[in-house]
Amino acid sequence: MEEDTISTKEQADRYMFKTYSRFPITLVRGEGCMVWDEEGKSYLDFVGGIAVCALGHSSPIVTKALEEQSRMLVHVSNLFYTKPQIDLARLLVENSFADRVFFANSGAEANEAAIKLARKYARDNMGEGKYVIICMENSFHGRTMATLSATGQAKVRKGFDPLLSGFKFVPFNDIDAIDRAVDESVCAVMLEPIQGEGGVVVPEDAYLGEVRKLCDEKGILLIFDEVQAGMGRTGRLFAHEHYSVRPDVMTLAKALGNGLPIGAMLATEKLSESFGPGSHASTFGGTPLVTAVATAVFRSILEDGVLDHCAQMGVYFKEKLEGLVDKYDFVKEVRGLGLIVGLELEVEGGPVVNSCLEKGFLINCTQDKILRFLPPLIVEQDEIDQMVDCLDDIFAGMG
Ligand SMILES: *Cc1c(COP(=O)(O)O)cnc(C)c1O
Repeated sequence: MEEDTISTKEQADRYMFKTYSRFPITLVRGEGCMVWDEEGKSYLDFVGGIAVCALGHSSPIVTKALEEQSRMLVHVSNLFYTKPQIDLARLLVENSFADRVFFANSGAEANEAAIKLARKYARDNMGEGKYVIICMENSFHGRTMATLSATGQAKVRKGFDPLLSGFKFVPFNDIDAIDRAVDESVCAVMLEPIQGEGGVVVPEDAYLGEVRKLCDEKGILLIFDEVQAGMGRTGRLFAHEHYSVRPDVMTLAKALGNGLPIGAMLATEKLSESFGPGSHASTFGGTPLVTAVATAVFRSILEDGVLDHCAQMGVYFKEKLEGLVDKYDFVKEVRGLGLIVGLELEVEGGPVVNSCLEKGFLINCTQDKILRFLPPLIVEQDEIDQMVDCLDDIFAGMG
């Protein structure tokens, strides 16, 4: 067959939408923090499926749950109760501010649910004409029309207008800007406690507390998008725990299923009352298979010391990267919390990412100049050493 003689890349180019600019490798296998391409070359993975593979690749915990649940029940419908879904919802509620959970299939869908809930709650409780959600510049909330409308980045919005109305943008880390933006039409503030795609931007210590206070004073809702920073990534279960601030709504996805597609929208009892029967739904949301895996992943994050390990490795990694900031003029700043780490350069990050790939390391670059590291939370010290040595070598050649 012709397919046998042409490369994977050529086949992809022939059959698939060109929505992704991909690296020229085809990955076929993974274990822990390592992945292998079809030629057998290994890579240390500091992309981690973009903050998804918290327990690493081929985790026995995931494999076991997948095997067992796939023999029991994969999917029925949300017309019926299924047990793994309830187990996961209970774990989420018992370990968060929230009283109730709605399951979706992705980060965008979880945020879509949060936006719908905020509007519906405002309609039910705040009177007419309150529907505007204040969002942040440089935010990222997904690629569906509503989440795109909430995303404060011109490059992802371009060409898709008219977008959904009812979103306003203010700079992150600027409480006065939110204060000025709140008027009679506003029902909520929505933000990522740590901006991920926006370049690993960590809030100032007091910021989230001030936002909470302002929302309470103005009688509006606070929505945290923890799709990237939640589920242990920062060394705490949820990023907002570092700031002792509770939202009214929170969304999760990426690491929740360790690679199986799942999103979740969590909220307080009072808000949940605005989503009654028939108000929102999803065919695949919270299937037994996906929630059984997510439950096993969640238990492991809680019980196997994953959070402490992540926090320790995060401190170690940032310290080592600080060394590179001291050593090279064009390496500007290290940012992050736990194992969501950014290294801001004064030069384009693309060539560094490509050099890493050649040397057998997967990293990511966001906002052109910010190298972003999102390794599995189980990453070990010697793997961090290897990553930093690799960067050191590359930077030395750029000098
Ligand atoms: C990745 C991401 C999303 C979108 O998630 P998808 O599963 O790709 O739809 C939303 N919010 C944040 C903060 C993200 O990092």
